[in-house]
Amino acid sequence: MKQATPPSSKFRAFNLRTMEELPGFAALSDDERFSIRVVSQVFPFRINSYVASELIDWSRIPDDPIYQLTVPQLGMLRPQSFKRIADLLRKEAPLEKLRETVRSIHAELNPHPAGQATLNVPYLGTERMEGVQHKYRETVLFFPQNGQTCHAYCTFCFRWPQFLTDSEVRFAATDSEPLVRYLELHPEVSDLLITGGDPMVMSTRALERYLEPLLNADNNGLTTIRIGTKSLAYWPYRYVTDSDADDLMRLFERIVVSGKHLAIMAHFNHTRELETPIVRTAIARIRGTGAEIRSQSPLVRHINDVAGVWREMWSTQVNMGIVPYYMFVERNTGAAHYFSVPLARAWEIYRAAMMHVSGLSRTVRGPSMSAAPGKVEIQGVAEVHGEKVFVLRMIQGRNADWVQRPFFAKFDPDATWLNDLQPAFGEREFFYVPEMHARIAAAEAQETVLAREAELREDETSFDTA
Ligand SMILES: *Cc1c(COP(=O)(O)O)cnc(C)c1O
Repeated sequence: MKQATPPSSKFRAFNLRTMEELPGFAALSDDERFSIRVVSQVFPFRINSYVASELIDWSRIPDDPIYQLTVPQLGMLRPQSFKRIADLLRKEAPLEKLRETVRSIHAELNPHPAGQATLNVPYLGTERMEGVQHKYRETVLFFPQNGQTCHAYCTFCFRWPQFLTDSEVRFAATDSEPLVRYLELHPEVSDLLITGGDPMVMSTRALERYLEPLLNADNNGLTTIRIGTKSLAYWPYRYVTDSDADDLMRLFERIVVSGKHLAIMAHFNHTRELETPIVRTAIARIRGTGAEIRSQSPLVRHINDVAGVWREMWSTQVNMGIVPYYMFVERNTGAAHYFSVPLARAWEIYRAAMMHVSGLSRTVRGPSMSAAPGKVEIQGVAEVHGEKVFVLRMIQGRNADWVQRPFFAKFDPDATWLNDLQPAFGEREFFYVPEMHARIAAAEAQETVLAREAELREDETSFDTA
């Protein structure tokens, strides 16, 4: 028999225009509403009934961590940018003027960090692949077209340009056929990471359409399918009461039975997201299929920059059978000036949390910066012959030979990202820099050659038909 489902289990998303219908928003002052309106011109805003009614504590706004996580905040825009937009809205300036101003603010916010737009693009022959990124030898990222939104948007999201209504930068794949061919040609790829947006916004049927060809193909090296998702935090009903939730569990089982490791890479930012009965049921159901759940989250000011939150998150997760995986450093894009935590402080929080959890929680690595050369972990702060330094380690690298190499940067209490750091001990540059320059030059040269070849082909075609 089907269970009667509570009314909140019917998915509904809210945006700027419809937020008034959410109960909590009645508590907001006119000023607060106006600043949400201003900031959401620049950053995407989407929330849903579950997040608003079960996760946010409206008696604690604006400090409530889930409110900070999902509702655009005044401080996310620099005062000057805020004023530019606010003035235009107040005098009801023409839409085109507003768009133009928003675009110029976007351009100042480092919309494509870490060379994603050029350096991670794989090719099938001479064709650039759409919706696929290949940065680290073993793992390919796949962005299915129908998975390019989320059940709610995170204010700090590093992929914020993907969710703008007039986005031109959206990279997405319409089917997995080219990917199957790519994997055949690249047997070194063991892991496929399906990401977005959030692939779990897709129906089970759509997800199957992308996954079945991969399960049926046997001439590749694929052993693991990872799904990166925030849905356990933002919409756990996906796994329990959504109309195709049971089909989804059967799909997960099929993947596991096919012999592949299915890893749900769950994005949890705060302990509150683990507390509702529905998320606990969802986690148990997923684990019942034989899938493993690993957790990852950036460390974000105003949301989780307290050691106690991490301590409790990791120990609760281990208790539920979730493996803590990564603590990330907030990337240098979008509203990073509002959300970022200095690297020195990030390491202190990580260490203070690690000190008070058992070894089973210490599988989590970090604080880790996903930067252009690779994932750089802050191992700690040390003093060597009177020089105070950051001890760093490349835990994932564009060149596999970089992996697990320790290196050192001058200590800087204010540094928030890799490009704020200088090499220690009088070195001129970090060890990976010369090769990075060479790789960038090679990628640019390849693009030029391929563009030229495409032009030539076009000329030939027009010659043929002439
Ligand atoms: C983190 C990441 C991966 C996966 O790396 P693992 O260390 O295997 O988890 C793959 N591709 C990109 C671009 C990443 O940022």
